[in-house]
Amino acid sequence: MALSEFELIQHCFAEQAAANLRPDVRLGIGDDCAILSPAVGQDLLVTVDTLVASVHFPSTLSPFQIAGRCLAVNLSDLAAMGAKPAWFTLALTLPEANEAWLREFSRGLFELANQHDISLVGGDTTRGPLSITIQAHGYVPAEKALRRDGAQVGDNIYVSGTVGDAGAGLGLTLKGCIDESDFLVQRFVSPSPRLALGQKLLDVASAAIDVSDGLLADLGHILKRSQVGAELQAQQVPVSKALLEAVGQEQALQLAFSAGDDYELCFCMPAERIEELEAAAEQAGVAVSQIGVITSEPGLTVLDTSGQAMALTKAGYQHF
Ligand code: ADP
Ligand code: MG
Repeated sequence: MALSEFELIQHCFAEQAAANLRPDVRLGIGDDCAILSPAVGQDLLVTVDTLVASVHFPSTLSPFQIAGRCLAVNLSDLAAMGAKPAWFTLALTLPEANEAWLREFSRGLFELANQHDISLVGGDTTRGPLSITIQAHGYVPAEKALRRDGAQVGDNIYVSGTVGDAGAGLGLTLKGCIDESDFLVQRFVSPSPRLALGQKLLDVASAAIDVSDGLLADLGHILKRSQVGAELQAQQVPVSKALLEAVGQEQALQLAFSAGDDYELCFCMPAERIEELEAAAEQAGVAVSQIGVITSEPGLTVLDTSGQAMALTKAGYQHF
């Protein structure tokens, strides 16, 4: 891009970033590299996600919404491993350097970043179809991070909040509704990364993942990595009143199983730690629901209300 465009981008991000730099950033935006000074005794966790317009989000979203969603999905990866956010970088590919667009994008980005005390320390800017890559870094006390491979036979399986909302919300945004006063739209556009819960689960949970691809698919990743199986109770899967009212019981369950984008946490934990979990959930301000148990037999079984195994498909489940 032309120098003036670079200057514009620098202006939109560098000033805001400098205003909220954490003390563990020695040098932020402006040089060839950022200089970071990691805390002693902590493990550093790194994650990156690219979101492409019309692939990962409808291009009708506002720049404010796009920025918030991009950062939120990265924060959710940190939450899933119990990390405390520290820094992020931003690689932006833009069709043009539109000042109004960039200002709104920057406003959405820093609103969420400042809420979670994560500093923007650098990035890259290129011209092309709209695509946003954020790499986020966070801290976990050494060797304490929650992983996918720790689930033990007999553990209970939990999910935070409600699932399926964002799937319905995506449907609404694709029809042109991006108004976040609608709960389902808000759940898709501005997911709440469960950072407080993730950090509190560090000493409690045996394994965790964030629900980005769908509850069954993401739980499947835990099962595979932990070399165990699971039995779920369909009626215990938490769905919101708004979702039930919008799509009815059957479709709500399909979305809850398979839709993704909710960015809730799915985690496993020995049953005897329930009191610690209840305290953690209360402090984090999010409900948790037990949805099943880890079994030694590999594979995932979902039981319906009558105790019958449901036939699962890639898209969710099928009635016999
Ligand atoms: P270089 O040519 O050394 O890669 P750039 O001109 O790409 O440098 O970037 C100059 C500075 O601006 C760097 O410190 C870089 O981290 C920062 N920067 C560039 N684009 C962005 C962006 N989209 N967000 C945040 N920082 C950026
Ligand atoms: Mg560069």
